Amino acid sequence: MKPDRPEGPEPPDAAARRAVRPVTCYPVDGLPPPDLARARAMRQGATRVARVVVPPRDARCFRVPAGHFFRILSIDGPQVGDLNLWNAADLSERFYSGKTRALHGTHLSTGDRMWSSLPHLRPMATITADTLDWYGFDAFGCSVHDVIGTRCDPYTHNLLSGGQYHHCCHSNLARALAAELGLTPREAEAHVHDVLNVFMCTGFDRATGQYIMKASPVRPGDFIEFLAGIDLLGALSACPGGDCSAEHSSDAAACFPLCVEVYRPAAEALAAWQPPPRGGYDRTHGP
Ligand SMILES: [Zn+2]
Repeated sequence: MKPDRPEGPEPPDAAARRAVRPVTCYPVDGLPPPDLARARAMRQGATRVARVVVPPRDARCFRVPAGHFFRILSIDGPQVGDLNLWNAADLSERFYSGKTRALHGTHLSTGDRMWSSLPHLRPMATITADTLDWYGFDAFGCSVHDVIGTRCDPYTHNLLSGGQYHHCCHSNLARALAAELGLTPREAEAHVHDVLNVFMCTGFDRATGQYIMKASPVRPGDFIEFLAGIDLLGALSACPGGDCSAEHSSDAAACFPLCVEVYRPAAEALAAWQPPPRGGYDRTHGP
């Protein structure tokens, strides 16, 4: 947040410096677009092979083989979800929220990819459907499915409000991963990372730059769907903030379950599908 009364004096050419036009940091024009037509053809012949219900103020893990689809579905009421993704065979490869944001912008929708951490930098998942894509950006500059928030966590909650709250998404994800892998929650929390905020409606306050949120426009029946690029272990937390209209680290908000469904394409379609390659940098980092 910038100060109301800056201490640094403005230089004579301040207006000219401010008037310089920005350029896109990471133009993605050269990035091959995802083949959504092919993905949708694969999806048409797919059958559901798993369904996981995530209880309110808790999280669950799920597994999605490469070339399969997964759908996050609103079922009982407006509810936000915090999503973590790992390479199922190597937890050090995990979703890289910051670089995904740098490449695709603050909020994701159909055609955007969830990129993995360095040195891998490959699309772990591609968004193939999003029933909230109609929302766009509203008058407050807010939109849905952000990669700007981190996940609600008990450390920040304690810092700002005191107390010991155990159902922040960070703790929910840690407990779910611990249960899945036979770890303690303390061991598992080292693997918890910045999320895709599924269904959350957020932006930045234009005056202060602060992270803002408002009631999610999601309703039961809405979903976002992904094609898994690699074998995935996922974890989804049904945030204690519910629709995140007011607060996000307490038992005050109305909370609802979320559902994750996994779909397997027909055998021929799956056999013909190719997983995305790892990033092409040689990792020598110069002399
Ligand atoms: Zn949360």
